[in-house]
Amino acid sequence: MEKQFWTSSIPTETREGADREAVQEAVQTLRYASPQEVLYWSVERFGKSMTLACSFGLEDVVLVDMLHQIDPQIDVFYLDTGLLFRETHQTRERLTKRYGKSFIRVSPNLSLNEQEAIHGEALWKRDPHACCAIRKVEPLGRFLSDYRVWCTGIRREQSPTRAHAEMVEWDSLFHMAKLNPLARWTMDDVWDYVRKNGVPFNPMHERWFPSIGCIPCTKQVEPGEDGRAGRWPGLAKTECGLHHRENNTTMGGR
Ligand code: SF4
Repeated sequence: MEKQFWTSSIPTETREGADREAVQEAVQTLRYASPQEVLYWSVERFGKSMTLACSFGLEDVVLVDMLHQIDPQIDVFYLDTGLLFRETHQTRERLTKRYGKSFIRVSPNLSLNEQEAIHGEALWKRDPHACCAIRKVEPLGRFLSDYRVWCTGIRREQSPTRAHAEMVEWDSLFHMAKLNPLARWTMDDVWDYVRKNGVPFNPMHERWFPSIGCIPCTKQVEPGEDGRAGRWPGLAKTECGLHHRENNTTMGGR
């Protein structure tokens, strides 16, 4: 493993500039790489300044398995909104048992009771954007400020908003590199990997829950429905605000 050559004594702007250059190059060189090659590139370049976001969905458990084989020391975190399904927590426990891995719990500044006292009951029904901003986006930004690259399980076929995701890109919202190693994978690719490698997964995926988030904003989909149709049902909202494409630049063209 190559030694990391950037240290905390290097000014943030200098380091960010170098990271942007590295991303710009990687957009081209890793465009058709395998997920493992993307992860290896990141671990080699960023070491412990890398982190993996895990919602315990099917894509994320694949990445947990892959990353464990490359470097089990890399931090993996989850956003605990206080509204996750029991099955999601059980999946985390099973992964911990399988990989001996502690998942870093990242939580909002406001408890659910505090949110209700300030913003009223069931904010997710009246203003889901505000609710996601409090329970997901702010905690994520706070946590990511200690890292230089984050990794997600985004796949292009998941939704039109994800259709142009690159394997490596620059996240202008959080000012850091972002990896989407499974960007080119299909749902069948994901299931194949999970089954071949015996990776623990959330059993709700076998009950027509292709995408699993908070309890109030997740429902089963009908056969043939889009994989993200079960999120924020009945609303135009399709993302938490963590993956806005207009905030990302690939800098390398397509
Ligand atoms: S997914 Fe729903 S409940 Fe969860 S933070 Fe967003 S709006 Fe709130």
